Amino acid sequence: MPIKNRMADLHEEITGWRRHLHEHPEVLFEVHETAAFVAEKLRAFGCDEVVTGIGRTGVVAVIHGKSTASGKVIGLRADMDALPMQEITGLPYASKTPGAMHACGHDGHTAMLLGAAKYMAETRNFDGTAVLIFQPAEEGGAGGREMVDDGMMERWNIQEVYGLHNMPGVPVGQFALRAGPQMASADEFDVVLVGRGGHAAVPHEAIDLVLVGSQIVVALNSIVSRNVDPVKHAVLTVATFQTESDTQNVISQTVKLRGTVRCFDGDVRDLIEERFTALCSAIAAAHGAEARITYKRGYPPTVNAEAQAKFAADCAAAIAGEAAVERNTPPIMPAEDFSYMLEARPGAYIFLGNGDTAMCHHPMYDFNDKIIPLGCSWFAELVERRMPAA
Ligand SMILES: [Zn+2]
Ligand SMILES: [Zn+2]
Repeated sequence: MPIKNRMADLHEEITGWRRHLHEHPEVLFEVHETAAFVAEKLRAFGCDEVVTGIGRTGVVAVIHGKSTASGKVIGLRADMDALPMQEITGLPYASKTPGAMHACGHDGHTAMLLGAAKYMAETRNFDGTAVLIFQPAEEGGAGGREMVDDGMMERWNIQEVYGLHNMPGVPVGQFALRAGPQMASADEFDVVLVGRGGHAAVPHEAIDLVLVGSQIVVALNSIVSRNVDPVKHAVLTVATFQTESDTQNVISQTVKLRGTVRCFDGDVRDLIEERFTALCSAIAAAHGAEARITYKRGYPPTVNAEAQAKFAADCAAAIAGEAAVERNTPPIMPAEDFSYMLEARPGAYIFLGNGDTAMCHHPMYDFNDKIIPLGCSWFAELVERRMPAA
C-alpha cells in the first residue's frame, strides 16, 4: 500500500514550509515566529480551533471529522524547537540565525504534522476529532510537560497520543518502534566536594578532594554493575571532574563532579538515586569532606503502550508495507520530552528512517525531505484508521 496520494501532491509545498522553518530556527520556549507560522497555516487550512500559548508557546489545533459521533479524540504531536548550535551544512536554506540550528529535524516533524493537518482539514474522512499538538522546548526545556501541566489533555479530551522522530542511519521508508520502554529517562547530577585545600607537598594538612572524588567515581560505577538487576539497562556517567585549581602544586578547596543517569523504569531510577546519594555522602564523610549533591530528575522514560504501539505499527505497515516496519526495535538511551504526554495518556512514539544523513545534533545534520509524505501519511492514517468514517 502506498502513501496517501494527496501527500505526494503536497510534497513540494510541505518541503517549502520545512525549509522555511530550517532557515529560521528558534530554541526552547522562544519559538515565537515558528508558532506564529504554524498557527497561521492551521487557520488557513480551516481547522476548527487553533489556540496559541499552550505551555507558554505551544500551539494546539482541532480538526473534527465529517462526524464526531464516535466521541473519539486522538492527539498527534510535533516538536518545533531547534538547538543552540552552529550549522555548517552550507545548504541554500541553512540557518540564518547564528548559534541556532534545526539539528534534530523538528523542522521536518512540524512540517509533516502541518501537511497532515492540511490533508485532514480538506478531507475530514473520519468520525471523531484530531487534536494537533505543536510543542516548544523539546530539547531540554520540558515543553511537553509544560503543555500537559497546562491542562491540554483534559481541555481537549485527548484519549490517545502519538508522535514520531526521524532517525538517521535507518533507510528512508522504514519505521521502527517497540511496545514498552523506547527511550530512557535522563537525570542529571552536580556534586560539589568541599574539603580543605592546601599545599600539594603537605597533603597531611589538607583533605585531598582529587583522591576523594576518584574514590567516588569508582564507587559510582558499582551501582549499575552491582546494584541494578543485570537484566535491566542503565547508564551512569560522570562526565565532568573539575578541580578548583589548575596547577601542579595546589590541593583544591573544592572539586566538582557532573554527569547523567539514564534508565528505563521507575524502580531502577529510584534505586540509582538512593545509592548515588549514599555513596557520595558516605565516601566524602569518611575522608572528612562534604558532598553537596544536586540530583535533578529530568525527562522520564518514553514508554509506548502495548495496544497503541501495535496500532501505530499497523498504520506504518499500511503506508510503507509490513516489511518496512520493525516492530521490536531495541530501546535507546537518549531521552525524549514526549514521555510526559505518554505518562498522561496511552500512546506510541515511532521512528521514521531519515536515510544516510549525519546524526541528529551534528552540525552537518539535515532533515531528509524525501520522508515527508511517509510521516504525513502515518499521522493521517492513525486518525482515519482509529476513527473510521461511517
Ligand atoms: Zn534532539
Ligand atoms: Zn529531536
